[in-house]
Parts: sequence; structure tokens; C-alpha cells
Amino acid sequence: MKLALIAHDGKKDAMIALAGNYLPLLRRCTLMATGTTGARLAAAHGLVIERMLSGPLGGDLQIGARLAAGDLDGVVFLRDPMTPQPHEPDINALVRACDVHDVPCATNVATARLLLAGWSAA
Ligand code: PGA
Repeated sequence: MKLALIAHDGKKDAMIALAGNYLPLLRRCTLMATGTTGARLAAAHGLVIERMLSGPLGGDLQIGARLAAGDLDGVVFLRDPMTPQPHEPDINALVRACDVHDVPCATNVATARLLLAGWSAA
């Protein structure tokens, strides 16, 4: 299972907490993340993560390219709906790529829990 993990700044603590609830699954997965999210997850949980550029510098696009190439099975993308993002086009491109390629994409914690619980049981 190959997963991408991305969290906007206002959602990074939520991502750390979420990941902490699913560590057995995440340790079995091949993980990639945008730069700061990946650094936070590695520091908090010791996860091995391929880190892309930070989101505003193109990290979402890098993950989108990998997804389009068939290199991802799922994305957890905790977006902050209350804060404008300078890289909104990149964010939309990644979510669109998930829809184009029918890859599960959780954009809030409740949905992420459903996906991660399902993958844990698989
Ligand atoms: P970051 O990028 O993990 O480097 O903060 C996430 C984003 O803003 O898309």
C-alpha cells in the first residue's frame, strides 16, 4: 500500500494525532508526504517517509505526478478550509488527479479515519 499524507498548517496537529492512531498500518505502507508534513510525521512517530517539496513550492504537484503515474493507492489530504492557500491551483490539481484516476482521497479527519480503518482491516 502506497499512501500520500499532506496537511495544511492549520491541520498539521490533526494529522499527527490521526497518524498516531494508525501507526501499525502506516509502518506497513510506503509513505510519501509534502515537505513539512513529512518532517513533522517523521519527528513525531519515526515514520519512514519520502518527502517532496513543501506544498507551496510544488510538493502537491509532485505527489499528483506520482499518482498519475499509478504510484499511489490513497491520499490523506487534510485541507484547511478556513485559510486561503497560495497554491490553491496545485491543491485542486491533486484532488482532480485523484478523481481522474479513481484513487481514494480523504480531505478531512472523519473520512480519513474511515479509509485508514478500512485499509487496516484489509
Ligand atoms: P507542507 O505542504 O507539508 O510542506 O506544509 C502542505 C501544503 O501546504 O500543501
